[in-house]
Amino acid sequence: AKEKGRNAFEFFSRQLKQKAQDRIFLEEGLRQALSQQELSLHYQPQVSLESGEVVGVEALARWFHAERGNIGPDRFIPVAEQSGLIRELGAWVLRTACLQCIKWHRLGHRITIGVNVSIIQLADPSFPTLVAKTLAEAGLDPAYLELELTESCLMGNTTDSAAVLKELKSLGVKIAIDDFGTGYSSLSYLKDFAVDRLKIDRSFVREITSRSDAAAIIKAIIAIGHSLGLRVIAEGIETAHEEEVLVRHRCDDAQGYFYAKPMPAAEVERFLTERSATAAI
Ligand code: C2E
Ligand code: CA
Ligand code: CA
Ligand code: CA
Repeated sequence: AKEKGRNAFEFFSRQLKQKAQDRIFLEEGLRQALSQQELSLHYQPQVSLESGEVVGVEALARWFHAERGNIGPDRFIPVAEQSGLIRELGAWVLRTACLQCIKWHRLGHRITIGVNVSIIQLADPSFPTLVAKTLAEAGLDPAYLELELTESCLMGNTTDSAAVLKELKSLGVKIAIDDFGTGYSSLSYLKDFAVDRLKIDRSFVREITSRSDAAAIIKAIIAIGHSLGLRVIAEGIETAHEEEVLVRHRCDDAQGYFYAKPMPAAEVERFLTERSATAAI
């Protein structure tokens, strides 16, 4: 038993060591990636369920590492948050996304740009100034920028975040609650923070067919959103059947592989042109 215990200990300590090394590797790599432009953004279209038109895109960070290939944001965003690099990364994402959005506007595509914001950025009192400056530099109308926050951002209950949110709202940018329904749900923040849009989390959409309670939750979220005068978007739509259920419950917009995967800006442009051509017919 003693032998066994020691083996288990060695196993876990090896794992811990591996984890720590992984983190150091990612943190070092990310620092370099930021300075050497190994990061890029992909954009995923958001479609109006009423008109079928693309009404916006969400910017999603991508990291292509020279030796290791693609490293997903689910891995590097947490490292960026723990190391503080998220400020620099977040500022870069915001700037790149706004500059890209104005390019699309100039081509005649009046779409919104969704940008994910970390709780750490939101706790920074200088964040609204950064947003205002970035919008001004890009020449983008604030109404076309939608900041995606998670429920925990708003539930953090820090007075700083609340003040930052108020300032952001006064700039005229839109606020969406990402992964809605998965967090700590106190619905009072919807009213307190003058949110503009709810994003139904993919986990509910994925279970539409297999679990009747998932559809019931979706229906309830849409009802809550609409009764507060908010738009509701569902994410992670992969099938026509999922779309059908959302349309039946009067969801406003949808995003998911069923329409398009996240893609580089040039591909989005093609997608937009094709889409608006078909919408015109
Ligand atoms: P998220 O904000 O919830 O983004 C949605 C994720 O779902 C994206 O993963 C997207 O590629 C994926 N997705 C979209 N449609 C479908 C679908 O139909 N099926 C499936 N299976 N997946 C779908 P991605 O790009 O890997 O991003 C993961 C997470 O990383 C994001 O989740 C977000 O929390 C974070 N993230 C990405 N970019 C940024 C960023 O610039 N800043 C911050 N703070 N977080 C980011
Ligand atoms: Ca998001
Ligand atoms: Ca989400
Ligand atoms: Ca998510």
